[in-house]
Parts: sequence; C-alpha cells; structure tokens
Amino acid sequence: MRILLIEDDAMIGAGLCQALERVAMTVDWVKTAADAAPALAPGEHALVLLDLGLPDGDGLQLLRAHRASRGALPIIIITARDSLDARIAGLDLGADDYVLKPFETSELLARIRAVMRRHAGSASPMLAAGELTLDLASHEARFQGAKVLLPAREFALLRALCARPGMIFSRAQLEAAIYGWGEEVESNAIDVLIYAIRQKLGRSAIRNVRGAGWMVTKDMA
Ligand code: CA
Repeated sequence: MRILLIEDDAMIGAGLCQALERVAMTVDWVKTAADAAPALAPGEHALVLLDLGLPDGDGLQLLRAHRASRGALPIIIITARDSLDARIAGLDLGADDYVLKPFETSELLARIRAVMRRHAGSASPMLAAGELTLDLASHEARFQGAKVLLPAREFALLRALCARPGMIFSRAQLEAAIYGWGEEVESNAIDVLIYAIRQKLGRSAIRNVRGAGWMVTKDMA
C-alpha cells in the first residue's frame, strides 16, 4: 500500500516515513504544493496524508482541485492549525478525516486503517479472501490452520492481493503496489516475497496464473 505524504516539515515527514514503513506502507514524500499536484493523479497511491500549510500554497486548494477533478483518493488532513474553520472546510471539501499536530503515530495509523476500511466498504479490521485472512492491525496472516506474523514487505504484498481477491496481478502491478518512487527493485523481488509467504502459509495460499501473474482466490477450498 503506497501512501502519498504531502508535508514540508522535515522532522514530521521523516518520522512519518519511518512509522509508516514499519507497518508495511510505502511512502512517497513531496514537500511542496507544486510537487503534490501531479502526484495526486489517480492510480499510484492508496491514501494521501495532506499538510495544510505548505511553503508554496495551501493544502485546502490541493484538496479542492483534486475533488473538483473527481479525484477519489482517501485523504487525511494533518495540520497544526487549531482553527475550527479550517478543519470544517477540509471535511466539507472532501477530506476523509483529520489529525491535529502534534499527534500520536499510533492514532494516525488507526485512522488510516479506519479510512481504508470505509473506502473499501467494510467495517471489519480483517481482510478475507477465501481461506486466507489478514489482520490489518497486527499483520497476522492465517491460512488453512497456519498462523504467522509476516514481515513488512511480505505483508504488503499479501495485503495488495487480498484487497482484490480473484484479480490477477502482474509483476508490474505488484511492484507498483508495494515499492515507492526511486526504490531499487530486483527483477526477482516479487518471486522472492511470494516464495517466503508460501513457505510460511502453504503453497496454495497464492496461486500462479501462468503467463499472467498471481492471485488469491475468493473461494473456500
Ligand atoms: Ca506545514
């Protein structure tokens, strides 16, 4: 799951990158409104964290422009502004939630999970695909009696597959889902992650579709 972080404060940004990467989220970080506008194009990111006070513009303008062009990215405002008006304006412009700086990382992470659940149309903190279940908070995966805590990158890959059970993901689609801008991706990186997941959960946890990619099934065995 890739997050677009729009934040000009170096310390807050670096702290958020670290915290999000620890929970298997890949962060692409921009520090200005000018860099943020093209990054808000659909397709690349699962969620946006948006600071309002940017050096060259206002986050609310970015939000307004994104929603005006029918952009549907989930957006959480992170702001030091204690003005009630700015928060109300943000929500009315289509933000999904907001957190006030300074915030506890654990609360922001819980809000991200909640916004993603609402966006997926589900109230459950579990992601289920056939016999596979993923606990999005604890990173525990279960499959046919096996239960295991997955490291960040393996969890990120399985989360991408389980979000769309029955859909075949190509190598490029999986790489795009879990690696950020400028990350070196070994040509066999996806194979290595899938091998590791299968070693832990069982070979049939992820299906190969010859010549097309990989998928998890919707059906119970
Ligand atoms: Ca700022």
